[in-house]
Amino acid sequence: MVFGGSMTIEIAPGAVMPIALVFGLLVGSFLNVVIHRIPLGISVAFPPSHCPECKTPIKPWDNIPVLSYLWLRGHCRNCDCSISLRYPAVELVTGLLFAAVAWRFGPTWWTAIHCLFVASLIAAAMIDFDHQIIPDSISLGRSGHGAPSRSGRERLVRHALPRSAVA
Ligand SMILES: [Zn+2]
Repeated sequence: MVFGGSMTIEIAPGAVMPIALVFGLLVGSFLNVVIHRIPLGISVAFPPSHCPECKTPIKPWDNIPVLSYLWLRGHCRNCDCSISLRYPAVELVTGLLFAAVAWRFGPTWWTAIHCLFVASLIAAAMIDFDHQIIPDSISLGRSGHGAPSRSGRERLVRHALPRSAVA
C-alpha cells in the first residue's frame, strides 16, 4: 500500500459501495469467529467453523454471510439446533458500516483504513459485551489508526513542552 498523492484506488465510483458491502459481509463472518475465539485463546484459523452443538464442520455453501442463516432458517443443517441471530446481525452491521465508510470516503485508501478500524471496533465492542474485556491483540492493533501511539504521544509532548519540562 503506497500512500501519498490523492490516495485514490482505481475502482469505478459506483462500484465502491456494493464491493464494500459484500466485503463487509465476509469480514463480518470472520469477525464472528474472532469474537468467539480470541477471548478463549483459540486459533481463528483452526479448526474450521463448526456447529457449536454437534461440532459438524460448516460447509462453504452453508457459510455464506446472512443468506445461509436465512435459507437454513437459523438452524444447523445437521442437528437442527438453533443458531444465534447474532451471527447474521454482526455480518449485516459490518457490511452496512463498510458501505457507509465507502459512501463517505469513495474509492480511496481512507475507505480501506476506516473499514479496518470499523472491523476492530465491532470485534472489540462484542468481546467487551460478552466478557467485559478488550484483548490487546485488537486494541493494540488499532492504536496506529486514530489516537497517536505511545511513542507518537511522547513525541508530541516533547514538541509541545520546553525541553527542560520533559525528563
Ligand atoms: Zn449442529
